[in-house]
Formats: sequence, C-alpha cells, structure tokens
Amino acid sequence: MSSTVISNIAALVTNDPSLGDRSPLGLVRDAAVVIEGDRVVWTGESSKAPATDNRVDAGGRAVLPGFVDSHSHLVFAGDRTEEFNARMSGRPYSAGGIRTTVAATRAATDAELEANLTRFLTEALRQGTTTFETKSGYGLTTEDESRALRLAARHTDEVTFLGAHIVAPEYAEDPAGYVALVTGEMLDACAPHARWIDVFCEKGAFDGDQARAILTAGRARGLHPRVHANQLTYGPGVQLAVELDAASADHCTHLTDADVDALANSRTVATLLPGAEFSTRAEWPDARRLLDAGVTVALSTDCNPGSSFTSSVPFCIALAVRDMGMTPDEAVWSATAGGARALRRDDIGRIAPGAYADLLLLDAPSPVHLAYRPGVPLVRAVWRRGRRVEPRPV
Ligand SMILES: [Zn+2]
Repeated sequence: MSSTVISNIAALVTNDPSLGDRSPLGLVRDAAVVIEGDRVVWTGESSKAPATDNRVDAGGRAVLPGFVDSHSHLVFAGDRTEEFNARMSGRPYSAGGIRTTVAATRAATDAELEANLTRFLTEALRQGTTTFETKSGYGLTTEDESRALRLAARHTDEVTFLGAHIVAPEYAEDPAGYVALVTGEMLDACAPHARWIDVFCEKGAFDGDQARAILTAGRARGLHPRVHANQLTYGPGVQLAVELDAASADHCTHLTDADVDALANSRTVATLLPGAEFSTRAEWPDARRLLDAGVTVALSTDCNPGSSFTSSVPFCIALAVRDMGMTPDEAVWSATAGGARALRRDDIGRIAPGAYADLLLLDAPSPVHLAYRPGVPLVRAVWRRGRRVEPRPV
C-alpha cells in the first residue's frame, strides 16, 4: 500500500480539539497529513512528517476534512426553473410544486435518474463534498420509492427512505391510507435499500402522530430516524425527533425555547439548511441561539429542485456566517464534523489517524476564506478515500 504525505499546509483543520490551537477545529499550523490506502495514518507538524512514497506540496494552503452533506434529495428528474423565477420575480405561480417533480421522476427511466444523480454528485465532489446522504421522496409509490433508493445505494451508504415527503397525489383524499401504505408494503420494499427513515413533519404534510407512526414502523424494520422538522412553522417535529433519538432534526427554523432545550439535552443534531431559506426568501434559522444553548449543529445543502437547488457546501457556509450568526470556524465545523455527527459517523468529518482520507485543499491559506470569499471556487483538490478525485494540479 503506497503512502502519500501532503506537506507545507498553512492551516490544517483536524476537528480534534486536543491538537494544534485546541479549538474545536483543532487547527494545526505548518502541518502535514500522511495518507495510506484509504485512511489517514499521521497528522502533525510538517517538519516531523515521516518518510512516504509520494509527496504533495500544499504550497502554504489550508487543508480541511471533506464536507459531509448530510441532507440532500438528489434522485429526481426535471427542474423547476419557472417556479423559482416566478417566486424571485414576485409573480404568482400555480403549477404543481413538488408534484411536478414527482410526475417527472415517475416518468424517467432508471438511466435518466442515475445520470442526473451522478451529475450532481460530481458537481458536489468538485466543491469538496466527500460524503453525502440522499433521500427518496419523489416517487411516492412502492415501486418508484424503492427504485430511487436502489439507485442511490449504488453511490452512497447514507440512503434515506422518505416515502413520507408529501401524501402521494393518488391519496389526496385518504392520507391515512397513504400512511398505511408507507408503513406497510412500501416500507417492506424500501427497508433493504436504506439506512435511515425520514418524514416531512409539517402542516400540509404529516402531523406529529402520523410522523411518529411512520418513524416507529421504520425503526422496527431496522431504519434509524431523522426528521424534517419545524421548517415552515412551529410544530411537533423537533420534540418527536428527540423522543425517538433521531440522528438529526433538519431545518429547525421555527423553534420554541422548549425545542431548543430538548435538542440541547439530546444527541439529536440540528441540521440547518440555509440554501432553503435563500431560495424561498424565508426567515433564517437562528444558529447562534442553538449554539449558545449547547446544541450540536450541522450545515447541509438540502439540494433539491424545488426549494434549494445548490450542491455547494461552501455557499451554505457563507450564508450561515452572513445571516445565521455562526462564526466562520463554527460553520466549517458544522459542515464537516457536524455533518458526521448527523450521520452518527466518526470515521469521516475529521482528519486524524484511523479516519477515512477524505480531505480537500483550499486555494487559500485559511478555512475562513470559505466565508470571506463567497462564491469563489476555492476548492483546489479533493481526496476521497485516499484517492485524488479532483484533477487540477496542486
Ligand atoms: Zn429536505
């Protein structure tokens, strides 16, 4: 197995607070990282790096763990440009919203869906995302949901069954019948292809009792819960996520003090998705309030064609710093270690011996530049599982 040292790193984000500046980022100056096979085997000061087969000179730039995008919806067809354009232009728009995507997804072939998925994954990887979670939720039939999960599972281990995204159009008059389908035949077909189960717990989607029934049924089939919670209104989603020990409550835009306390006293991560607020001109989630209360916060893209069509974690970091009260360091931590927590993983989201060699080289001397230089393609090179995947020369 060949080994590679990346040396001459001006700032190395390890996310190990026992290292470097002892901050949560564990920032080591003048650092080096040694990769062997798919793992990190050594980190430390550049001058002390052991001999290796290969050497990469980072040229005084920053190295970070690859981004962990713990919330996306990438198995779909079609787009909703007109809907976005109308919303941003202040024009009324009455077409089908998510139902438009459901119809296009059902009509697409497997090859079309997978080509679309691969395109977004490549796009995300180029921007530094080395782990992504993705969900079903645009099929809403047993066959279409299980197909989406099968396709997603070819590309990631972090696959989430979201049959309870909205009530399928065929069940508009019979939501109880749709919940019975999701917790019965659809779950049977989907459980073998997924790790997680998710529910959109929101007015107009699924209420607290329905969400509890769906998540509990999923848990009985070996799936672990995560919840779309408190995005558009106050509601029971966050409390339910904590009650069921969900790995993550996602969105968390409208929270009572009791919701914040519940999160702070649990291991459920609050995953914030600023791309959604950006794309819908909605109120920002208050990351500062959550962090000050001691809640673990993750940052993700929510990449989907309706409400957040960005695959860029750096963009979300910039928004979180500008509009959600996060410091640049907190935003970087949340997009790496926070995402790993939201997926209950400790082999990603940090650069330490034993972790996967998922890392990115920024074309900047400091990770602060991710917020300081918004919209600039700063990711210069990416390693995933120890392999260089971004071909630009260092
Ligand atoms: Zn979502």
